[in-house]
Amino acid sequence: LYLLVFVQVHGQGGVKFQNWAKTYGSSPELYFQPISVEEIREILDMARQRGKRVKVVGGGHSPSDIACTDDFMIQMGKMNRVLKVDKEKQQVTVEGGIFLSDLNVELSKHGLALANLGAVSEVTAAGVIGTGTHNTGISHGILPTQVVALTLLTASGEILECSKSINVDIFQAARLHLGCLGIVLTVTFQCVPQFHLHEVAFPSTLTEVLNHLDDHLKRSQYFRFLWFPHSENVSVIYQDSTNKPPSSSASWLWDYAVGYYLLEFLLWISTFVPSLVCWINRFFFWLLFRSRVENVAVSYKIFNYECRFKQHVQDWAIPIEKTKEALLELKAALENNPKMVAHYPVEVRFARGDEIWLSPCFQRDSCYMNIIMYRPYGKNVPRLNYWLTYEGIMKKHGGRPHWAKAHSCTRKDFEKMYPAFPKFCSVREKLDPTGIFLNTYLEKVFY
Ligand SMILES: Cc1cc2nc3c(=O)[nH]c(=O)nc-3n(C[C@H](O)[C@H](O)[C@H](O)COP(=O)(O)OP(=O)(O)OC[C@H]3O[C@@H](n4cnc5c(N)ncnc54)[C@H](O)[C@@H]3O)c2cc1C
Repeated sequence: LYLLVFVQVHGQGGVKFQNWAKTYGSSPELYFQPISVEEIREILDMARQRGKRVKVVGGGHSPSDIACTDDFMIQMGKMNRVLKVDKEKQQVTVEGGIFLSDLNVELSKHGLALANLGAVSEVTAAGVIGTGTHNTGISHGILPTQVVALTLLTASGEILECSKSINVDIFQAARLHLGCLGIVLTVTFQCVPQFHLHEVAFPSTLTEVLNHLDDHLKRSQYFRFLWFPHSENVSVIYQDSTNKPPSSSASWLWDYAVGYYLLEFLLWISTFVPSLVCWINRFFFWLLFRSRVENVAVSYKIFNYECRFKQHVQDWAIPIEKTKEALLELKAALENNPKMVAHYPVEVRFARGDEIWLSPCFQRDSCYMNIIMYRPYGKNVPRLNYWLTYEGIMKKHGGRPHWAKAHSCTRKDFEKMYPAFPKFCSVREKLDPTGIFLNTYLEKVFY
């Protein structure tokens, strides 16, 4: 019987999984790319019979081990159809494995768009909501707030629909599901009419931005800024809807030859002379960010931006009113400890509070502060001190870590951070009593 099932669902052995940044990976015993719900049910049956766990992976972009498993891995890339476009309600229903890059193009054929997106679109509908992917804009929530309904295949093989009116508790949990409630088969997004964005980037200082944060937040619909550690330099980025025709000031020479290849080379050199990092941060600000730059394009082309080469990141959300204090503490910590170096940028974004149980923005408007240490040519740069200092500051200000990005928190921390944590746990235990969807990352969250 095993053999029969195995042949039907085509599990592959010997596959090595690695996330986008090649910072985490695993060797699933069997790797599946199902094309139907029946196949997924068979995989779940086989896992149960063999005492294996199951992990679904989307685009594999999470910078942590949240999608890793050495048991059975299901890649949803073949369940990627657009199922329904409701033009009247401006809603789209898709299969969980669709890449947002494909969805963006499909939506634009219908004159629609997602109201907000993260930096990349080679990620899946189920994957981005699973970890609470966010962008910026204080009147915009994180991506899961755009979800109006979804369908889960639970551990028992049952299909559960949920929305604001059906299975309400499950919906509040599943909009940010961590991959632990079941397999997300479909997602329905609330869309908006297609729009163009006008992006303006201009230089400023940390003092100016922090002293006028409210003005910046009011002035631009999607406001974010990049701080260049070891300096006062800031690049402010405004993005706003426009009727202007597309135009671009992007240049291969500057964006790639300099912004990518030269940066990677210099950061590699700095692994031998760490004090060079301060100079690199200032030099690149002067080279690439000291003048005003403008672009106009269809929304998703502006929301998405170049994330350069492999990297380690941390990204915590703190209450928005703590932004200034927390950033100044991070700046002071770097100044007081010259041996601790920080690559640019520290990217600061904002999101509206929401009611999603495990959302880092649960019941509070938030500031996300993303720190980065690149891995030039795959080489790890020491970051422990910087990482611990940052985490300490974030915790002190009531921060909650991005679920996709590596952090050192455990159940005890999450119980304090999330008032609705017990409610999420009870939904999870009901839907997956044997923990078939758990992995090492999730054990730290729930045990
Ligand atoms: C270059 C880069 C840029 C990024 N930019 C941003 C950004 O701007 N903002 C931000 O917030 N984050 C950002 N991220 C993080 C990224 O958005 C998240 O990691 C997101 O979850 C990735 O989606 P994915 O499809 O790759 O999911 P994966 O990493 O494959 O999976 C994420 C989680 O979802 C689960 N999952 C996936 N599909 C299913 C399914 N069908 N059913 C059940 N569970 C499922 C997985 O098990 C896992 O728990 C970035 C990451 C990279 C590498």
